[in-house]
Amino acid sequence: MTYNLQGKRIYVAGHRGMVGSAVVRRLASEGCEVITADRARADLKRQSEVEAFFKSERPDGVIMAAAKVGGILANDLYPAEFLYDNLMIESNIVHAAHEADVEKFLFLGSSCIYPKYAEQPIREDSLLTGALEPTNEWYAIAKIAGIKLAQSYRKQYGHDYISAMPTNLYGPGDNFDLKTSHVMPAIIRKVHEAKMNGDKEVVVWGTGTPRREFLHSDDCADALVFLFKNYSAPEHVNVGSGEDVSILELTQIVCEVVGYEGQVVNDLSKPDGTPRKLMSADVLRGLGWQPKIGLKEGILNAYSWYLENH
Ligand code: GDP
Repeated sequence: MTYNLQGKRIYVAGHRGMVGSAVVRRLASEGCEVITADRARADLKRQSEVEAFFKSERPDGVIMAAAKVGGILANDLYPAEFLYDNLMIESNIVHAAHEADVEKFLFLGSSCIYPKYAEQPIREDSLLTGALEPTNEWYAIAKIAGIKLAQSYRKQYGHDYISAMPTNLYGPGDNFDLKTSHVMPAIIRKVHEAKMNGDKEVVVWGTGTPRREFLHSDDCADALVFLFKNYSAPEHVNVGSGEDVSILELTQIVCEVVGYEGQVVNDLSKPDGTPRKLMSADVLRGLGWQPKIGLKEGILNAYSWYLENH
């Protein structure tokens, strides 16, 4: 172990989000004190508010799960927000952490940082070896800048700042708004509504052939806490399940979980995005971590949360 969480004050940025809330749940058994800030306390886009928060709270460690996130359409519709908001949030938090002498920092990126046609499964060292997928390049550029921020503060000041790149995540607390969500919550909601309405068809965007890797947010949180405690190096680490499915296969699994027997049809006016996004899980496996929640079990859990909360 390189970092002992016992008795530490850990700030989880983005605690209301799907990943942040999972991290807060996961930290409950680590003997540390979790610190959070809602927007009224610190608007993360405002440097002065973030600095004042760090000065008064003096966290020992930071897990940075705050970000402006969204699916393939939201990324395309709100490029300025995806780039500006994320650059501001990460710059403010990284620098405030530095000024407040934070001991350990984990920056959270995304698998979309990798080139559109990266060799699969995507290894960590494919970063910046090719052009990005245009539908999410704004978010990707911001997240690449975040990795570099963490690396640069590590290099210049010797801080123990690390980065993790999670794959497509899903779970309780996900965004189920069909216009801005990622594919998993969208498909869960669409299949559920098709069943409820007695529809003969459910529509998925694009051709259904793109392949994506999925990880439950509780598995992700477990991996992040594992890295926080056991990893210290400049290179970012992929956090994934190591397995992918096509969007059509995903839809079929969701249909099974929901109990829907209609037809799946494609809306070809919507983009496919990157053809495949499977990350290599070798580095994280090599460190001794692996996921515990299978895809079907995870989908059932996310669907149950949706039923209880919508
Ligand atoms: P990406 O991983 O950055 O491409 O983002 P998404 O999770 O939004 O989309 C993944 C894939 O699922 C893309 O090929 C989408 O076209 C496809 N997809 C199919 N149906 C839907 C849907 O209803 N919503 C979203 N967001 N994606 C969908």
